[in-house]
Amino acid sequence: MDLRGAQNDAVATAPGRVVDPSKFDLAATERAALELLRAIGADVDLPELRETPRRVAASFAELLAPAELGATLFPSEGRYDELVVVREIPFHALCMHHLLPFHGHAQVGYLPGETIVGLSKLARVVEAFARDLQLQERLTVAIADWLEQELAPRGVGVVLSAEHMCMTIRGVRKPGARTVTSTLRGSLRDDARTRQEFLSLVG
Ligand code: ZN
Repeated sequence: MDLRGAQNDAVATAPGRVVDPSKFDLAATERAALELLRAIGADVDLPELRETPRRVAASFAELLAPAELGATLFPSEGRYDELVVVREIPFHALCMHHLLPFHGHAQVGYLPGETIVGLSKLARVVEAFARDLQLQERLTVAIADWLEQELAPRGVGVVLSAEHMCMTIRGVRKPGARTVTSTLRGSLRDDARTRQEFLSLVG
């Protein structure tokens, strides 16, 4: 079985994906989950574990299903020349290093050029890049790259704040610790006043 939507060529998916939806094999994922249970020494004959491989495979299928990246773009016709900022866009992704989730919020802004995008679509852009094996830094850059390429804005700012399970339940074990990453481009990087306005808007 392919990941949901994978066979539909008309669905634009996020560029630079790590997981190729056409290669996702649900049955093989289920077998691998059973092998993992055996490898960690679990008693796979327990009734409670019988359905676990199937559930694990279904979870991966859902978490890695590509979200549609079909953002409708509009000409701005000079009507908008102020910063557009959407705050607190929730997202979750799977960490490329540990296959554990990280989740948090994205603040996305741009200073329009000739093109604008529907506000709700900014959230969809974040989701499209997050439903993959990801790293927070990579995700931040991917969102900014896409906005820069599609909108040719005068500036772009993306700030991500997330909690990583690989940091909070293992390794350094700092529950609640949040990682903040940001990418500022164009006038949001070079113009002190615009940068300040963006940073104060995103808190
Ligand atoms: Zn990790």
